[in-house]
Amino acid sequence: MVDIVDPAKRSKIMASIRGKHTRPELRIRRGLHQLGMRFRLYGRDLPGRPDLVFPQYRAVLFVHGCFWHRHDSCRLAYTPSTNSLKWRDKFTANVERDRRQLALLQQSGWRVLVIWECVLRGDDLSELLVSVATELKTGESPYREWPNKNDKMEIAV
Ligand SMILES: [Zn+2]
Repeated sequence: MVDIVDPAKRSKIMASIRGKHTRPELRIRRGLHQLGMRFRLYGRDLPGRPDLVFPQYRAVLFVHGCFWHRHDSCRLAYTPSTNSLKWRDKFTANVERDRRQLALLQQSGWRVLVIWECVLRGDDLSELLVSVATELKTGESPYREWPNKNDKMEIAV
């Protein structure tokens, strides 16, 4: 059998299969690290266990899956047609939990940044990463998310 995929491409494919759930988060981590940002992983002591914690900036970052965390008006946040009532209950619980955790974090003076997975579908994340780093360093908003709520995102599904 002839191998039609070169080793680099194969390893990329394998990585995308293996690391299905962590890959976007890894891209964020590497990118921010390259921009000189320093952080802790998984704030286990913090509400919602943020994916990245930036103590220096009193900020936390979540990489949210659009489906489970119900990204507002995002095509990835669909409701499956079977057992839709059960799904709705589950989603409502998720959204309420997120809201509670956000409030708890903000009450303790943490700024909260959220990157939705749909914004990570592109190959080039440099603009996003610079925006996140800038927000961390100079932002004053208690909450910021990407894509921005007002952005009209075309999301290929
Ligand atoms: Zn989304």
